[in-house]
Amino acid sequence: MQSGKNNKKSPNTLTILIIGVIFLGGILAMVATGDIDAKALLTQITAFVVILVIILLISSIVRSRSNPQPPPQMQVDLGIEKDFIIRPTTSNVTFNDVAGISEVKEELVEIVDFLKNPKKYRDFGIKLPKGVLLVGPPGVGKTLIAKAVAGEAGVPFFYQSGSSFVQMYVGVGAKRVRDLFNKAKMMAPSIIFIDEIDAIGKARGNMRNDEREATLNQLLTEMDGFEDSSGVIVIGATNKIELLDDALLRPGRFDRRIYVELPGLKDRLEILRVHLKNKPFRGNLETIAQMTVGFSGAALASLVNEASIHALKKGKLYIDESDFFAVKDKVLVGKKKLQTYSPQEKEILSYYQATKAVVAEWLGVDFERITLVKDDFKEEDKEIVSRTELTNKIAVYLAGRVGVEEKFKEKFSNAHLDLKKARDLAMKMVRDYGMGNSLVASDEEVGEILRDAYQQVVEIYRTNQEMVEEVYKLIMDREVVHLEDIKKIKEKILG
Ligand code: ADP
Repeated sequence: MQSGKNNKKSPNTLTILIIGVIFLGGILAMVATGDIDAKALLTQITAFVVILVIILLISSIVRSRSNPQPPPQMQVDLGIEKDFIIRPTTSNVTFNDVAGISEVKEELVEIVDFLKNPKKYRDFGIKLPKGVLLVGPPGVGKTLIAKAVAGEAGVPFFYQSGSSFVQMYVGVGAKRVRDLFNKAKMMAPSIIFIDEIDAIGKARGNMRNDEREATLNQLLTEMDGFEDSSGVIVIGATNKIELLDDALLRPGRFDRRIYVELPGLKDRLEILRVHLKNKPFRGNLETIAQMTVGFSGAALASLVNEASIHALKKGKLYIDESDFFAVKDKVLVGKKKLQTYSPQEKEILSYYQATKAVVAEWLGVDFERITLVKDDFKEEDKEIVSRTELTNKIAVYLAGRVGVEEKFKEKFSNAHLDLKKARDLAMKMVRDYGMGNSLVASDEEVGEILRDAYQQVVEIYRTNQEMVEEVYKLIMDREVVHLEDIKKIKEKILG
């Protein structure tokens, strides 16, 4: 490009030189023959300058037409491609560095074994998932877990963030995906970790975005293209699985999903322990775990760090609880999105969940455990479900609202998701299953189902308030209650 410019320049310089020489020659000739006065000389020079300017103008216009600048997009693309080098890292993180979340680790042990001994699995013709999706809020350790899998298996770890694929220019993302998979296959067994995969895999919906679509299609093609036994495992992470394109979740792609939740009391204690391992801490960790409801692993890690700095600044030899108290709010301010609860909010949530748990147990709606922030009611896997089973489920969705309203004589906004579930289910019963009074669906019938369920819950609550109170205390204390606990409390109270 540079040499082309020079070539274009030289004829102009030559023209100017020739004209200059002719003019100067003319003037010199006139001066030599004594044929010129001062005025004529000035006119000659002015004419020379004017002609020179005109020539320069014309030549620059002609040049810009015949030799347009390359579009800025091409230049930028080249820059990006040069910077984008796919290099794996070697992870020295192990499962010991990941505190708590034992269920998540258990699920991944098999994958580690597969990466270590792919032949063993191949010989038996066993197919393992190509893609594992880690679903959970930010900072709960999804990246850490993926690194631990790579570290445990001793395989190369390819990290990419979903947003790094989605560039402004069509084709770049798809090429990156292709390069990434090629490299990973070359170095198999290996792990590809794609953080924030929703940046690529957002459901396509109405909004068209050619680049993202091209990138997503390339990712799907790559995942379909490699053999189950190739030894490449793709781990994706997202906190918005509901936004993901269905195509990504189909069999043979990210068909294994692992949910990573905010740590409960026990896990918070373990995470604090891991991060305080080589630090001089003296005090009661339990207290700190108690006061950090809603903290993610990342928030706990930065809490430990801030507390250590605080102790150091104070010139102390040991870190203790007071350092944690002093910096707690600072950590919270830094993490605006962090979910934390005031003591009063914790009471409301605990009572809400306690009522839900008691009503669910009473009506036989199955669950294993209910935590301060989450329940895990089993999805129906039956083909045919009765009206009674469905209304029981609605009753459970309404239970938290009923309990809290009865107890605190006030309604709170935390019920909104459950209320939506209740409404949606009632609507489905009336519209799709014809479970209203008539086969012609009406809003009135939806309302009636909800009202009946509400009334039923009020009755269950009033007769079992003592039980709700007991379960409430348990959740306040431990943040979790298991179905077994409720059965025990029930036996104790009812005899
Ligand atoms: P995510 O990928 O879910 O956003 P990260 O894996 O990036 O979360 O976690 C950020 C940091 O938080 C980790 O590097 C680690 O220091 C800390 N952390 C998160 N979860 C845990 C855990 N279970 N045990 C120990 N440390 C954790």
